[in-house]
Parts: sequence; C-alpha cells; structure tokens
Amino acid sequence: NSGMSEVTESDALRTLHRVFGYDAFRGEQEAIIEHVVAGGDAVVLMPTGGGKSLCYQIPALVRPGTGIVVSPLIALMQDQVDALRALGVRAGFINSTQDFDERRVMEAEFLAGELDVLYLAPERLRLDATLDLLSRGKISVFAIDEAHCVAQWGHDFRPDYLTLSVLGQRWPDVPRIALTATATHATHREITDRLGMPDAKHFVASFDRPNIQYRIVPKAEPKKQLLSFLKEEHAGDAGIVYCLSRNSVEKTAEFLCRNGIEAVPYHAGLDGGTRAAHQSRFLREEGLVVCATIAFGMGIDKPDVRFVAHLDLPKSVEGYYQETGRAGRDGLPSTAWMAYGLQDVVQQRKMIQGSEGDEAFRRRAASHLDSMLALCETAQCRRAQLLTYFGQEAAAQSCGNCDTCLTPPETWDGTVAAQKVLSTVVRLQRERGQKFGAGQIIDILLGKKTAKVIQFDHDQLSVFGIGEELAEAEWRGVVRQLLAQGLLAVEGEYGTLVLTETSGSVLGREREVRLRKEPKRVPAARSAKG
Ligand code: ADP
Ligand code: ZN
Repeated sequence: NSGMSEVTESDALRTLHRVFGYDAFRGEQEAIIEHVVAGGDAVVLMPTGGGKSLCYQIPALVRPGTGIVVSPLIALMQDQVDALRALGVRAGFINSTQDFDERRVMEAEFLAGELDVLYLAPERLRLDATLDLLSRGKISVFAIDEAHCVAQWGHDFRPDYLTLSVLGQRWPDVPRIALTATATHATHREITDRLGMPDAKHFVASFDRPNIQYRIVPKAEPKKQLLSFLKEEHAGDAGIVYCLSRNSVEKTAEFLCRNGIEAVPYHAGLDGGTRAAHQSRFLREEGLVVCATIAFGMGIDKPDVRFVAHLDLPKSVEGYYQETGRAGRDGLPSTAWMAYGLQDVVQQRKMIQGSEGDEAFRRRAASHLDSMLALCETAQCRRAQLLTYFGQEAAAQSCGNCDTCLTPPETWDGTVAAQKVLSTVVRLQRERGQKFGAGQIIDILLGKKTAKVIQFDHDQLSVFGIGEELAEAEWRGVVRQLLAQGLLAVEGEYGTLVLTETSGSVLGREREVRLRKEPKRVPAARSAKG
C-alpha cells in the first residue's frame, strides 16, 4: 500500500531531521528503515561506519513501544545511551555493570513505556527474569547488533547469541533486525539460520572503500619505516597505529614523540582516566596519532582519520578490514599501511599453538591467520582479494589504488630456493636430531660462521653455504612465504621450523613453488595518484 509507506517514510525522514539533525539517509538506510518500520525482519550487512545504528534507532522511535538493542559491547552502552540522551532520545541499558537499584530504575522506566531504546547484553536474555520483564512491556523492534557473534566458527562467537532465536518465537509480531559489519557468505547464512529469520529481507552494502589505499610493506625496521611513511605522506594527519602488545604501543608512541610526531598510547593496561583523555584528544584535535592495541577503535567515530597503520599482523581479515575501515570515513583519500614480516608469521603461529583454546579453536584461528597471510602474500589486487573474502565481487580485477596494482610485484620460480630451505631443515633433523628457528637456517644457507654455527658444527653440514645467491632479506622472504603457504611449519616456544605434510612434494620436485619478489620500494600514496 503506497499510501502507508509514504506516511512511514516521512515519519522516518522527519525523525532523521529532527532528532539526529541529518539531511538525508545514506546508502540503503532508507530502504532498511522503511522495511523494519513496516514490520519486516531484516538482516543488514554493512561495513563499520556505514551507519547501522540509525537503521534500528529510527524504527525504535517511529514504531510504538521500546526498541530492544542486543549488543555484546557492554563497555560502550553507557556512551551510546549518553549520546542518544543528548539528542533527546529516551534511552537506557541493563547490564552487569549496574547495581541492583540502577537496574530497577531502568526496568521501571521500560514498563512505564518511558524508554524509546533499551540496550541489553546478550547474556541477560538467557534469564527468565529478563524475558519476563520484556513480556510485561511494549516492544517496537528487536535489534541484534554484532550479529556475526552467533556464528560458531567466527572469531567473535558468543554462546549467548544462540539463545536469541527465542525472540522470534516469543514475539512473532515484533520485527527483528540483525546487523553486522563482518560476515562472509557462510556467516551470513548462519545468522539467518541460528537467529531463526528465514523470511528476513537481506540488505548487503558494498564493502569496498575506494578512498582507502591498501599497502603492505616488508617489515625491516618497522618503527623507522612507520616514521618515514608518516613524514612523507601524512605529516600533520590524524591516524591510528595498531600494535599487538601494550609494550610496543608504549614504545612506538615514545618513538614517534621523540621524532616530532604527536602521539599518545592507548591500551587496556592504562587507567580509565588516561584512556578517556587520550581518546577525547584524538577526537578533538586535528593531527594526533594514537598508538593502540585493538582495544582502541570500537565505536570511535572520527571522520578524518587519514591513515591506519599496522606494525603487527592482525589475526584475521575481519580484524584487518575493521581496523583499516576506521580510516577515511569522510570519503577523502586515506591509507591503510602495514609492515609485515617473517617474525609476524612465526609469532602468530606460535601464539595459536600455545593458546589455551581447544583443538577446534586452534584450527579456526589458524584458518583465520591463513586468510590474512594470503592477503599479505598475494601478487593480485589487495582490494579484489578483500572483497572476495567478504563474498563480494570486485568491480575490476585491478583497483589501481593498492600497492600490488600500483607496482605489480614480480613472481619468481622459488622451487630451488624452497628445496634448499627444506633440505636444511631435514638435514638438521635427520643427521643431527636438531631443530632450529629461521635465523639459524638462513645463516647456514648463507654460509655464515656465526658463534652459534660454530658451536653446533653447522659449517660441517653439506648444505652449509649453498644459498649464497640470495641476500638475507630474500631468504627471510622465502621462509616467510613457505610458512604462509603451509610448506613449512613452526613448532614450540622457540619457533623452530619443521616440515609439513606438503613439504615432501617440494623436496620431491613434484611441485613448483611460486614466490613473490620482495619489492624494493613502495610507492608514495600521493605521488602514485598524481
Ligand atoms: P556503524 O554502526 O555502521 O559502524 P554508525 O551507525 O556508528 O556506523 O554511523 C557512523 C557515523 O555515520 C556516525 O557518526 C553516524 O552519526 C553517521 N551517520 C549515519 N547515518 C548518517 C546519515 N544519514 N547522515 C549523516 N551521518 C550519518
Ligand atoms: Zn588493487
């Protein structure tokens, strides 16, 4: 009925103008909101920063009753509620950070119909008391945020999300909208199945961020590389530098400050006051650099982040995409820059092996890492590879705005080099019963008489010095790519190298090993664009 939809459309638009102060809807927001306001279920796949919140906030305001928002991000609820209240929206939350009285107040407001939006942690919906509470009030819409948490093979799996299918059973007339920024095809299907939303309409936004230039450079001296990247291309720009550990966050921030770049650290080990202060400086000031662990960024909304740099390898493509996606929300040219090297692969493989998780967890983590490594090692367009990962088709084979498109890497037949590495590993193990890390293997190949080589008589091995045709950095590239391709594995706390099931096919000359040449120089973003 077109008459109806005109009414609801103007309701939605009026709310957008009056409450949120925005002129127009973005992308598919309008279609999504219209569909939900009319009572339909929706599954929304939209990248971070795409504007998912309005997709449930406006239906919550337009339809009678309270919109229930299920979100695992408890730490952000207070901020979200404060932001809504500042706009005059009657918002509240119920989670474990509250004491009994605070919770009581929220419950009373909900029952009295005094809330437009109520945020709930997923674990609360396991409790009969919560379901009971909900059935005594009036609900306008259920929004299930971060819906990929329902995917059992996903890296953010939350068992509590599995119980959310109960919402559809108990409240069949209340529309549900599931939202996520991270979903491959499989995850998308799992969301629909597990949340019990077979009739939901699917809204899939493009994951392409054409204004972000993706670059992955070989890691040599990461802090220095970062510094010249910043000085040459992003002087005075705001940006985020991600590091794996708190310690390297601190060191990197100090290093940048010493070298004339204003930078502050951000990680979970800092006290709340310092964290809040650094975050608000980042939002307020023009050209501040935040060095952070992945604890930083969830819910950060700064449009003019000009670069996101990674000094360590993210654990998954989802993580990489989400973190790099914080750059360039204003649509202006931005850079996603990463330094990546052999040590990243060794370290992450070691971390997975040493993790507390069970076998299934380790397999999952390893497959996430493999996808990430494939992105790092690809000789094809990075953007095309990213989009393919998210189940989307790239507009072109070559985007013209990533390092591999700008300077296509050469590949070479690395079969012989691979055999040299693998047979060194074999010799050590078979002839000496020894296992060593990449450094020693490379020293042997290069014929270096280091103290450690002498100590173990490794200069007596027949493979000693058989790799003088390549430089050390090139050998590191070979080992890194063998690890990335699963032709070599890492073992134990020292990260010693061992063969895999597929190594034999290389040693037996049954397969060719194509390797990516290590690029000499990476183009500068601005000059590359002309
Ligand atoms: P997501 O949850 O998808 O990461 P948000 O809902 O936080 O994204 O929105 C990202 C930013 O875009 C927020 O600052 C939001 O206010 C802004 N935004 C969303 N929709 C619009 C719109 N139609 N017009 C202008 N700004 C918008
Ligand atoms: Zn490209």
